Amino acid sequence: MLRAEAGGGIAMSFAPLTHRTCVLVELESDDGVVGHGESWVNYPAWAHEERVATLRDGVLPLVLGRHASDVRGVQAELAATLDPLGRQWGAPGPIRQALSGVDIALWDLWGRTTGRSIAELAGGRTRDEIAVYASSLGPSDVTRQAAACRDAGHRAVKVKVGFGRENDERALLDARNVLGDVALYADANQAWSLDEAVGLAAMLREHGIVWLEEPVRGDRVTDLERLHQRTGMAIATGENVYGIDAFRTVVDSPGVAVVQPDLTKAGGVTEALEVCALARRTGTVVNPHLYGGAVGYAATLQLAAHAAVVGTVEYDIRDNPLRDPLLRDPPTPRDGAVALPSGPGIGVDLDADAADGRTLSVMTVA
Ligand SMILES: [Mg+2]
Repeated sequence: MLRAEAGGGIAMSFAPLTHRTCVLVELESDDGVVGHGESWVNYPAWAHEERVATLRDGVLPLVLGRHASDVRGVQAELAATLDPLGRQWGAPGPIRQALSGVDIALWDLWGRTTGRSIAELAGGRTRDEIAVYASSLGPSDVTRQAAACRDAGHRAVKVKVGFGRENDERALLDARNVLGDVALYADANQAWSLDEAVGLAAMLREHGIVWLEEPVRGDRVTDLERLHQRTGMAIATGENVYGIDAFRTVVDSPGVAVVQPDLTKAGGVTEALEVCALARRTGTVVNPHLYGGAVGYAATLQLAAHAAVVGTVEYDIRDNPLRDPLLRDPPTPRDGAVALPSGPGIGVDLDADAADGRTLSVMTVA
């Protein structure tokens, strides 16, 4: 468990993020090669406690003794065994988030064993850089944040909304005033009812919002479709969608323009590749959700290096002690894009000493 202060807290429309926390999964092979994965535990504040128990008692006993090169087979078996438990528990998300950490670690381990990047293992690199967008401005201090984004060369920026019409409009105005003609996205984090979202759509369109993320419940595709039908707005969702059937419904929906699987939530590299395959069929853009630590960042860049259907990658603009400081050579965006690492596995190396310095506790299963 890695944990660090989140610099006074980060406001979201549903609850502030008080700490940067992630569960880092390290899988070591018999010949001493280590692969890393990350499981998302931003919410609730105690999620890491549950995750350690789920990994220790539920997931890792099924992984020991398996071959990393069979990551797809392992993932399928884990899902077949544990997804039903997740449904019975009423916790399909935490199960998937736990599987995500193991899946990414297996891909990384496979890559480090063979000297190939995850992108190569997945079928080959298709590019050397990917567009990023700055995430996320607001709800306060938008002018200063926007100036920092401008100075960093960002060309696309996401603004947090869902804090009341007046605050939302102020934030969008402030961002536009500083940034001018950039692509502006808005994320409501599921703050609104369908009628509330419809009522705000004209204002959002007036400010040139390119896509509106999770205006209503992110897994309620019928409401997202209705919103699109009634307002014409491009809708993005996916960070709170679990299971390939649910992703298929999202991708097949004419109301959803952008699907946003999170590699550390939905089921790792394996699940994200499947979502990309679905999205290719329907022309839906895949813009992976990303709001965590170093390994999730690196793994997401590997997905982008392989899957041409990925349009842009989310880039957290706030100080994050669990991302760049944990990487030996952190990929840093310039002029709105980031170079995609080509090293083995997740492409970049972790700084073990930096990770140790941010470690809350360690649990070993052998
Ligand atoms: Mg979001």
